[in-house]
Amino acid sequence: MKKCRVCGGQIDIKNVDVEIAGVVVKRVPAEVCSKCGERYFDTSTATFVQSVANFVKQKRNELSTGLAQA
Ligand SMILES: [Zn+2]
Repeated sequence: MKKCRVCGGQIDIKNVDVEIAGVVVKRVPAEVCSKCGERYFDTSTATFVQSVANFVKQKRNELSTGLAQA
């Protein structure tokens, strides 16, 4: 059983919504402390979330640029 690095509480595996720079990525597998709510992601998950956020931000920029030109 894993312990939280912040408070020593019990860690549960959950799917959580993660927000990065205003972009929400839904149902991301994470280890969540049942006591303080601290979240831990493994490296591949963190990379995935970051790349999704970057993709959405890029699309959003393209969209707003397109609208400005219209
Ligand atoms: Zn904790």
